[in-house]
Amino acid sequence: MGGLFGIVSKENCSRSLFYGTDYHSHLGTENGGLAVFGENGFFNSIHSISQAQFKSRFVDDYKKMVGHMGLGAIDDDSPQPLIIRSKFGAFAIAATGLITNKEKLTNILLANGDSFNEMEAGGINQAELAGKLICHGYDIVDGITKMQDVIEGSLCVLIMTERGIYAARDRLGRFPLTLGEKIGGEEDKSFAVATEASTFNNLGYQTVKYLGPGEVVLITPDKCETVKPAGDEKKVCSFLWIYTGYPSSSYEGIGVEGARERCGRLLARNDDVQADLVAGVPDSGVGHAIGYAIESGLPYRRPLVKYTPGYGRSYTPPSQEIRDLVATMKLSAVREIIEGRRMVVCEDSIVRGTQLKNFTINKLWSGGAREIHVRAACPPLIFPCIYATSTRSASELAARRAIAELEGGQPDDLRAYLDNQSEKYRQMVDVVRKDINVTSLKYLNIEDMIKAIGLPENDLCLYCWQGR
Ligand code: SF4
Repeated sequence: MGGLFGIVSKENCSRSLFYGTDYHSHLGTENGGLAVFGENGFFNSIHSISQAQFKSRFVDDYKKMVGHMGLGAIDDDSPQPLIIRSKFGAFAIAATGLITNKEKLTNILLANGDSFNEMEAGGINQAELAGKLICHGYDIVDGITKMQDVIEGSLCVLIMTERGIYAARDRLGRFPLTLGEKIGGEEDKSFAVATEASTFNNLGYQTVKYLGPGEVVLITPDKCETVKPAGDEKKVCSFLWIYTGYPSSSYEGIGVEGARERCGRLLARNDDVQADLVAGVPDSGVGHAIGYAIESGLPYRRPLVKYTPGYGRSYTPPSQEIRDLVATMKLSAVREIIEGRRMVVCEDSIVRGTQLKNFTINKLWSGGAREIHVRAACPPLIFPCIYATSTRSASELAARRAIAELEGGQPDDLRAYLDNQSEKYRQMVDVVRKDINVTSLKYLNIEDMIKAIGLPENDLCLYCWQGR
């Protein structure tokens, strides 16, 4: 989905910009970028992070990028932040999410005489498209409003002008933007805005506001003001709490780790499996497993641990084959915990199922596990995300593969598979269970997932599970 970070200060902020952006590295693996504005104007630096991660790519750059304001972005779709010269003056822009009507909007702008920089494979850079749309407003806020009105999909945008940073959350608040203020006196006043609120913790900022859906704020070194109020309707991505978000982060005031523990507790409450221990698939299954252990009274153990020394953050292998190999090598089985044990293994979700099987389940069986009971902290994923860049297609999803196996192809009507009381649902789960090779498999039901997150159902995006 990508991550954005912006900072406005009275002093050079490039170091905080560098670390603040790096704290979004779990949200993308393709492109990273920084832009600053200071006495010498605008500067940006953009690198691919597909073969070396953000910190190693930017550690030299940021020291040369002096400025009292800055933007950072991690994104799988478009290299950014971009610097655009416009009728509003120069500005830097970063935008993450997905514009699903990109072609249509591009063609309208081209017909109007706009032009675009060529991207690799002829694609259009989403940040550039957003910038061009904004430039059709009578001022920046009007331009952002017009952009939000015509974009289908979901796009959060940061725009840095000489005056300050405009932060615009996507129209339905599907993805977060949080405002932070530096903890300290007036002398040291500074504001930051981030996709991940957890970014603030180690940079000396505190959360002051979760931007509402479609809300636009302007942050300057002296103050933060809402320049376009939030809309009434929101559809926040549920998957943030289940998998995508960082455990120390929070959205809409609801912490990720707490929500994961509640998922685990609710999984345990509806479970009667006899087991010796509970484990989480590192890292994102851990919070769910801790919740399961608290509720069930079973001990939380670590049959699998991650070996991180030597696999520093500067190392991302270039090919999928090598990445898979590294993933296998990183996770190490603890035989004395595994051997002869019946274990509940909590996982955030089951996407394709292949990683779970290859990197986790096979190791537990090889380590001598007696029984493996997988518990997923959300219902079966039936629909790939249409609001952020998604690497999966419907046919790749484990549940959809199971449905195709049962039906001899993909049926037009999937409703029976969405109902966890139906026989078809039970059959689908059993096919996935056999596919990942475990003793039993259960998913959290959608009502409990919503309860664990703690927002009203109407305020959540549930498309992954409901297709609407
Ligand atoms: Fe999040 Fe799924 Fe909705 Fe995408 S479709 S925004 S991943 S809940």
